Amino acid sequence: MEFEPVIGLEIHVELSTESKMFCGCRAEFGGEPNTRCCPVCMAHPGALPVANKKAIEYLARISLALNCNIPGRSIFHRKNYFYPDLPKGYQISQYDQPFAVNGQLGIIFDDEHISVGIERVHMEEDTAKNIHAGKSGRIAGALYSLIDFNRSGTPLVEIVTRPEIHSPQAARIFLNKLKNLLKYLDVSDCNMEEGSLRCDANVSVRPAGSGTLGVKTELKNMNSFKHLEKGLAKEIERQVAVLEFGGQVVQQTVHFDFASGEVTPMRSKEFAHDYRYFPEPDLVPLAASSSFVQKITADMPELPDERAKRYMADFNLPAYNAEVLTSSRELSDYFEATLAYFNDSRIVSNWLMGELLGYLNASGTELAGCLVTPAGLGGLLKMISSGEVSNAVGKEIFMEMCKTGGAAENIVAARGLTQISDAAELAAIAERVIAANPAQAEQFRAGKDKVLGFFVGQIMKETGGRANPQVTSRVLRDKLAG
Ligand code: ADP
Ligand code: ZN
Ligand code: MG
Repeated sequence: MEFEPVIGLEIHVELSTESKMFCGCRAEFGGEPNTRCCPVCMAHPGALPVANKKAIEYLARISLALNCNIPGRSIFHRKNYFYPDLPKGYQISQYDQPFAVNGQLGIIFDDEHISVGIERVHMEEDTAKNIHAGKSGRIAGALYSLIDFNRSGTPLVEIVTRPEIHSPQAARIFLNKLKNLLKYLDVSDCNMEEGSLRCDANVSVRPAGSGTLGVKTELKNMNSFKHLEKGLAKEIERQVAVLEFGGQVVQQTVHFDFASGEVTPMRSKEFAHDYRYFPEPDLVPLAASSSFVQKITADMPELPDERAKRYMADFNLPAYNAEVLTSSRELSDYFEATLAYFNDSRIVSNWLMGELLGYLNASGTELAGCLVTPAGLGGLLKMISSGEVSNAVGKEIFMEMCKTGGAAENIVAARGLTQISDAAELAAIAERVIAANPAQAEQFRAGKDKVLGFFVGQIMKETGGRANPQVTSRVLRDKLAG
């Protein structure tokens, strides 16, 4: 039997506000342990919370960017559970009246546009941090544990998708797209290593084509894209095997160990009623007035999807190119800035997606730290389009520009890289090459047209890639026929 995976993600985002959610302590990552805390975020008796206005603005920005509906009223709840990193014994969160509902975010997967529903977006606070002393860093086998309250009460937004993702790769693409969107919105640094962006993945499998959902398990804290994709793949494999042997999947939280690639059950999943949710009596309801929502809407930047649509309409770019070019604000700004120097969007798009992103990935450089400016790239593209340098040599020059930050013109002048378009000069080289390869020349004359490529290659070798390909082919045909 064929099985279809069903995946829903719960994503936690730490907001980059200056202060915490319900007190004035600094919300920045790190710091000397237990130096950024106060009676509120350490839960001293009688301390009272006050909601952070900036955090609510960021929450609204995220909700609107995810095309959600924002009801005029939402409330905070207490989610009760005991854990050492939760000094109050409850987390202030939202429950049946979240800030925003019913959104969607589209991704491109396998050349198809897939819309993933967003069930809810709500506000809550982060916990403190347990640090387990021992080799694994996990509680099992730890010698002792310490608690750092610096993180306690950091503003945390939870985004919950509908179960509408159907492969580990699509889950990864979705998370990446969401991360890019959040960075666009300037609401979080989304640093996954520091835990600013965390993802729990819920997954079940069902017979392909079935309309009902199977029993799900939850993979907690998939804190890298690789982790998420591989963890889901392994868990899907495990569930399929259980069902194929006539067993049943048990609803539970499972742990994925990246090193061994193994999935192990952790604990049975708790249910909402276990948390004894009740309305937070120390906070007033959160009423998003229409004027507040209007103000946030007016201050929104052009979002990646809108920008991608504009690129498709104005520049006639394929959907995939538009999606890649708008994946970060820096990259799309770079794209548009380059067009001011070289106004061929197809060529600029291809260079950014091929050469520039290729270089950044391979060298682990951020675009902000790249030495080639839009003006610099524009200058190089002009030299290629005017025929001063060949496309192949242009790519070499680009690599040198990345390393040294030099201008294309200076590199070409210093290294004598101008393209050879002079037919007489190329003819002389062609004669030499033909004389040196009589067998191939014979094959060409006998009708094997493909051999021309061999000769072009030889001439490129001789000229260090500087020969103009069109002129070279013409001259070669001439000489070979003669
Ligand atoms: P719970 O009450 O267990 O937290 P929710 O209904 O709140 O479950 O859903 C939590 C997440 O799990 C959501 O992202 C949702 O899309 C996803 N989810 C729910 N049911 C399933 C299922 N059967 N298979 C896969 N994912 C699911
Ligand atoms: Zn505090
Ligand atoms: Mg839930």
